[in-house]
Amino acid sequence: MRYIANPPNPYHKYDAEFLGEPSPVKLEVFEETATRTIVTKNNSPDVGFNYSVNCYRGCQHGCTYCFARPYHEFLGYGAGTDFETKIVVKINAPSLLKNELRKKSLRGELISFSFTTDPYLPLEANYELTRKCLEACRDFGNPVGIVTKSPLVTRDKDVLNETNKRSGATVYFSIPFLTLGKSKLFEPYAPKPEVRFRAMEELASAGISVGIAIAPIIPSYNDSDIPALLQKARDCGASEAFMTMLRLPTESLQTYFVSRLKENAPTKADKILNQIKRERGGKLNNREFGNRMKGKTEQWQIAEKLFDLHYRRLGFGREKSVKEAKQIFVQQNLFD
Ligand code: SF4
Repeated sequence: MRYIANPPNPYHKYDAEFLGEPSPVKLEVFEETATRTIVTKNNSPDVGFNYSVNCYRGCQHGCTYCFARPYHEFLGYGAGTDFETKIVVKINAPSLLKNELRKKSLRGELISFSFTTDPYLPLEANYELTRKCLEACRDFGNPVGIVTKSPLVTRDKDVLNETNKRSGATVYFSIPFLTLGKSKLFEPYAPKPEVRFRAMEELASAGISVGIAIAPIIPSYNDSDIPALLQKARDCGASEAFMTMLRLPTESLQTYFVSRLKENAPTKADKILNQIKRERGGKLNNREFGNRMKGKTEQWQIAEKLFDLHYRRLGFGREKSVKEAKQIFVQQNLFD
């Protein structure tokens, strides 16, 4: 049984507390007809894509470190259990996307699926919004990039394959922990790491370009998993990989992350939190562009070197230049 637990919402004037035991959580789905845009333009120099589409808000996978949690506070909800159980579904996302892809400014642009939610959260099995948006990208010749933790993405290998042939499609599986035991502590409702690797293998066998996102690295917890994660991903057919450090951009997210960590791993919590602070100059977060995704200490540099060493040893990134060249070629032929 899970109980409602949300940190105070900074946009609320007042906060209510339960007298006695909080209520159990229950899944609530809010269908929304978006009126403006479904394509979000990203201006951050730290993020490797310009345009993203999110058909949902909130995420049932409930990772305690998820930097998208505070976005739920803009809706008047909490960044804790509300983020995991009050899910907004943008039911007209595919038709909005089709309208927007007709614009000249989006021609041939890479559309990223994920950022503020997992595009394959369990509700997608019913709604099929991500699938319909992928079909739109395929029809308009837009390359796509996906980051997910869910094997549900294998349902769409037909459309991904067609998009891949036409303009390019890459699916990154977010797998920061090697074992279920390590994952459970921070990703309580996400599919097991083993299941994600199997889905990766299935897509690679279907000819779709796949990669591993070792993100987030939680210093002193999963940095030692890097070599084995890269090896396993390579064995499953991954050709791309990246890693980023844990980001806890707001006070409410920090409160939630710390409380869950202390509750679930009381003996490890201090060691992990102290190392995060060392990496972040004494705080739990670093907002500086260019440094938000990485640490400051020698331990972080060792983790980076470990990643680079095994990335090169295993031959990651070698297919990139061929694929990029093909993508440019396809785009020129489609739109010149
Ligand atoms: S799967 Fe991704 S979007 Fe969903 S909670 Fe985890 S980190 Fe956040």
